[in-house]
Amino acid sequence: MILVLFGPPASGKGTQAARIKVRHAIAHLSTGDMLRAAIAEGTEIGKKAKAIMDEGKLVPDDVVIGIIADRITQADCTKGFVLDGFPRTLNQASALDAMLKAKALSVTHVIVMDVNEAELIKRVENRAAEARRKGDPVRPDDDPETFKKRLGVYKAETAPILPYYEKQGKIRRVDGMKPVDDVTAQIDAVLTGPAPRKSWFR
Ligand code: AMP
Repeated sequence: MILVLFGPPASGKGTQAARIKVRHAIAHLSTGDMLRAAIAEGTEIGKKAKAIMDEGKLVPDDVVIGIIADRITQADCTKGFVLDGFPRTLNQASALDAMLKAKALSVTHVIVMDVNEAELIKRVENRAAEARRKGDPVRPDDDPETFKKRLGVYKAETAPILPYYEKQGKIRRVDGMKPVDDVTAQIDAVLTGPAPRKSWFR
């Protein structure tokens, strides 16, 4: 099973991907987490990515495509994986299809998390307030102005991927405005197929 979790920043992709990993025993691949780890380790990729990420822009396609191409060869990906935050451009989506095709694989479902903009902004403000309350560092790209820029990048560069997957019949929408457990249940329903129809007769 190869899943793409798709949605704007702060739509809950990370939370749901972590649950999918446990519930369906597949790997969770977050390019954002991998880039933040590269920054923390001070690698060359991390050094290049930091300023771009802090500004809310996209890291170059070749960098993230290279990261994913390497990552999916690792043993924990053999049973499948859920992509969180990748692909973010049409170029990344077609590179993903090409790398999967070379292994005779393809994306199973693209799960789109629908959340409106006002709710996204509220979530990021809460996330920053919660981090401050705990004394944790606030993600630089969760700064309100930078977050609005990330939303703009999503609309301009990432959302246009949807027709590409629509043509492939891969899109499955979930209502990301609902509570976390409810969203998980909607995703489970996609992954296990439609619930059996109730009989008309009791
Ligand atoms: P995320 O944690 O998914 O919100 O990602 C945080 C930041 O990492 C993004 O705003 C981008 O700067 C960068 N990033 C993560 N994934 C990608 C990607 N697939 N393509 C380009 N940049 C990415």
